[in-house]
Amino acid sequence: MEFEPVIGLEVHAQLLTQSKMFCACSADYAGAPPNTHVCPVCLGMPGSLPVINQLAVEYTILTALAFHCEIPEYAKFDRKNYHYPDLMKGYQISQYDLPLSRNGYVLIDDAGVMKRIGVRRVHLEEDTAKLFHANGASLIDVNRAGVPLMEIVSEPDMHSVEEARLYSLKLRQILRYLGVSSGDMEKGAMRFEANISLRPKGTTELSPTRVEIKNLNSLRAMVRGAEYEIARQTKILLAGGTVEQETMGWDEERGVTVTQRSKEEAHDYRYFPEPDLPPLAVSRAWVDEIRARMAELPDDRRQRLMREHGLSAYDAGVITAEKEIADYFDRAVAAGKARSVDAKAIANWVTGELFRLMKEAGAEIGAVRIAPAQIPDLIALVNAGTISNTIAKAVFAEMYAAGHDPASIVQEKGLAQISDRGALVGIVNQVIADNPKPVAEYLAGKEGIAKFLVGQVMKATKGQGNPALVNELMLEKLKTMKS
Ligand SMILES: [Zn+2]
Repeated sequence: MEFEPVIGLEVHAQLLTQSKMFCACSADYAGAPPNTHVCPVCLGMPGSLPVINQLAVEYTILTALAFHCEIPEYAKFDRKNYHYPDLMKGYQISQYDLPLSRNGYVLIDDAGVMKRIGVRRVHLEEDTAKLFHANGASLIDVNRAGVPLMEIVSEPDMHSVEEARLYSLKLRQILRYLGVSSGDMEKGAMRFEANISLRPKGTTELSPTRVEIKNLNSLRAMVRGAEYEIARQTKILLAGGTVEQETMGWDEERGVTVTQRSKEEAHDYRYFPEPDLPPLAVSRAWVDEIRARMAELPDDRRQRLMREHGLSAYDAGVITAEKEIADYFDRAVAAGKARSVDAKAIANWVTGELFRLMKEAGAEIGAVRIAPAQIPDLIALVNAGTISNTIAKAVFAEMYAAGHDPASIVQEKGLAQISDRGALVGIVNQVIADNPKPVAEYLAGKEGIAKFLVGQVMKATKGQGNPALVNELMLEKLKTMKS
């Protein structure tokens, strides 16, 4: 019997607000000494009162709109009660039955096939403190407690780990385009929980029991955890057993899921409306105002690059994968217009040499020293015949290393193409004199060897000979020797 996985994801993303969700403490706690971004509210002191961070609400609505969600007119915050040492108040302020949004979707592109993954809701809550266990003691850092945390809950619409991976990447891409979250998994700004069950292939019913995996703190952990869990459940079902409903934790070091507790239901949390916060009336005017702030989203941008500049789906896809790269490309194209440099040529340099050098250096686009306008500058030098394509690559590497202007590199290093007939004829004659054997072969009818001789001339000019002219002069010379 073959099984098909049914996967739903809950993705938590920290929001890029200056202050925390319910107090004025700075939310930018990365690298700060422990317990320095704290106040009575986020420490959970009795008598302290929370105040809603408006920008966090707006970021959540903006994200929900990007996911095509409905935005209800009323929303409220609720207390989710559970006991854990990282939860300062003994409850987390979250949203239960009236979230900020519901019923949306995200499109993923699985090897050319578009698939719609339902987004059940996007709601807002607060992050917890962080526990550290060392030398038999447990330490707590409250800096993270109260940082705005957006939760994006998918429908169980994914049926392979690859779909879950593509969905996660798409979420992160959209969050970054919107500027609402860094999506930086190394810093814990984006975390995953996966709900996984199996069903016989070809059936459409959802299994009543599902296993939830927590602690998936990176995309890699999510993929490994899901693969492990699918294999574990398959083994149980094939042996005729039943999969228990439970919550498991992913043990990154051992690469296994471990039972944490039997899966809790919503009623276990004893949700109740947060009495210290007013319900939110979300006016349509406010929603429209937030919608007007929407940046161009990755799918639209990709389509635009294909439509406006004739880029291939692949090139448009890699250029728009990161907003910063797409912005860089757009600036290069704008600068190229004045010099009649084609956007396609710019795309070739960006996806070719630029990506190659960035990969070699392990660099992000923000660290690249070549200004966007310098790319069309370089292409214009090739188009004008000042340098060959081969030389242009060497110039590009120099530009990448030092950020200098292509024209000044060409001038300083004397790299301009040699298009002087007289100078090239001299070199052609020299190469012919130095290579009697290939020349004899050519004269005996092996015409392909002319390429080798042309190559020798290019080598002698250190790649600076005008290739078309060198070719022409060499063939001319060989012809005269033949007759
Ligand atoms: Zn605080």
